[in-house]
Amino acid sequence: MTTQTVELTPGAPLTLLSEDEQMFQQSVRDFAIEKIRPLVHQMDRDATMSKDLIASFFDLGIMGIEVPDQFGGAGSTFFTAVLVVEELSHVDASCGVLVDVQNTLVNNALIRWGNDDQKSKYLRMLATDTVGAYALSEAGSGSDAFALATRAQENGDHFVLNGRKLWITNAAEAGVFIVFANANPDAGYKGITAFLIERDFPGFSVGKKEDKTGIRASSTCELILEDCRVPRENVLGELGKGYKIAIETLNEGRIGIGAQMLGVARGALEHAIAYTKERKQFGQKIAEFQGVQFQIAQAATDLEAARLMVYNAARLKDAGQPFLREAAMAKLFSSQVAERVTSLAVQLYGGNGYTKEYPVEKFWRDSKVGQIYEGTSNMQLQTIAKTIVTGKL
Ligand SMILES: Cc1cc2nc3c(=O)[nH]c(=O)nc-3n(C[C@H](O)[C@H](O)[C@H](O)COP(=O)(O)OP(=O)(O)OC[C@H]3O[C@@H](n4cnc5c(N)ncnc54)[C@H](O)[C@@H]3O)c2cc1C
Repeated sequence: MTTQTVELTPGAPLTLLSEDEQMFQQSVRDFAIEKIRPLVHQMDRDATMSKDLIASFFDLGIMGIEVPDQFGGAGSTFFTAVLVVEELSHVDASCGVLVDVQNTLVNNALIRWGNDDQKSKYLRMLATDTVGAYALSEAGSGSDAFALATRAQENGDHFVLNGRKLWITNAAEAGVFIVFANANPDAGYKGITAFLIERDFPGFSVGKKEDKTGIRASSTCELILEDCRVPRENVLGELGKGYKIAIETLNEGRIGIGAQMLGVARGALEHAIAYTKERKQFGQKIAEFQGVQFQIAQAATDLEAARLMVYNAARLKDAGQPFLREAAMAKLFSSQVAERVTSLAVQLYGGNGYTKEYPVEKFWRDSKVGQIYEGTSNMQLQTIAKTIVTGKL
């Protein structure tokens, strides 16, 4: 395999990528800059994702990155998915998370746990024209995810689901949902089961959309299940193994969120560097002040550390090595870096940074969610601590 060194942020150390990875990365970067950037402001203002952009994601092959080519996917690696999420997020974190949830949660769960029929039907749809969503959280169960109250009652050849899900990314656009419900509450978390639900299944509907601070173009909605009839063949994996599916997919998924945060930090820093080279105060460019240079140098160093952590976790995953702690550390750290670097970017723009006329305030708003979803920062610390201190996991 030929590898090449690539500069990802102006002035940053070089990163080693294979030729294929670099080609994929470059094509997504060009797409993000040419096609997404002109729409970012309006999508954020209107809190709406462009349908044309979603169609382009399918055309580009980035909605089924790891999906085997026999099902219409790109048959590529998890690391490639991470590169794609970073590239999209360096222009728009909403596009980043749409593609991230599709690949690292929905497709991954199906690739790992789906039977042949489910793969053949749903992976093909997800790789070619259907957005997916992943529904675990509820109003009463966030960090304590397995306290979920949605119930699944067995009834002959189908299950009947009742309950409500909250905070579901991609719900406005999705055609397929992985929904977690408890089919045997007496067994506690060992009753939790994952179901594949199509948008038009009877008793299923998408409810209120959240009006969010950041990633506004990414839809986040409630799901309503009222006597929702789900055929038995749509149980994903085994009955009662939903908790395992949730744990394993989220362990991987949080590397994707790390990549999203990496992209957010990088996008803000690139804008800030360019601005400091133009803006003049005291008769010189503000980039010429050593105080400003040191702030940029620190941010670039933080960003590089986050990148190494995210890339390492993804490469461990692809190599079949343990990556639980590394993934938790990567998400924890890169989301902290994203908040710090985007805040600095606003600072370096001065008053302009605090207005919607300039791009950096959006990066700042988009950064916060990295510390909340797919396990809050405290939950990442808990995982890291368990692997180090208590040895209990
Ligand atoms: C924009 C967005 C998109 C989302 N997308 C999805 C999605 O697609 N699918 C999905 O299933 N969910 C999704 N979520 C839900 C997300 O995963 C939860 O919000 C998250 O897990 C936190 O749960 P919570 O909001 O209930 O906060 P809580 O669990 O109530 O936490 C509140 C605070 O308490 C702290 N805390 C809780 N327990 C402990 C503890 N034991 N020790 C120390 N501190 C603790 C937390 O760290 C946090 O700071 C999304 C959320 C958002 C905001």
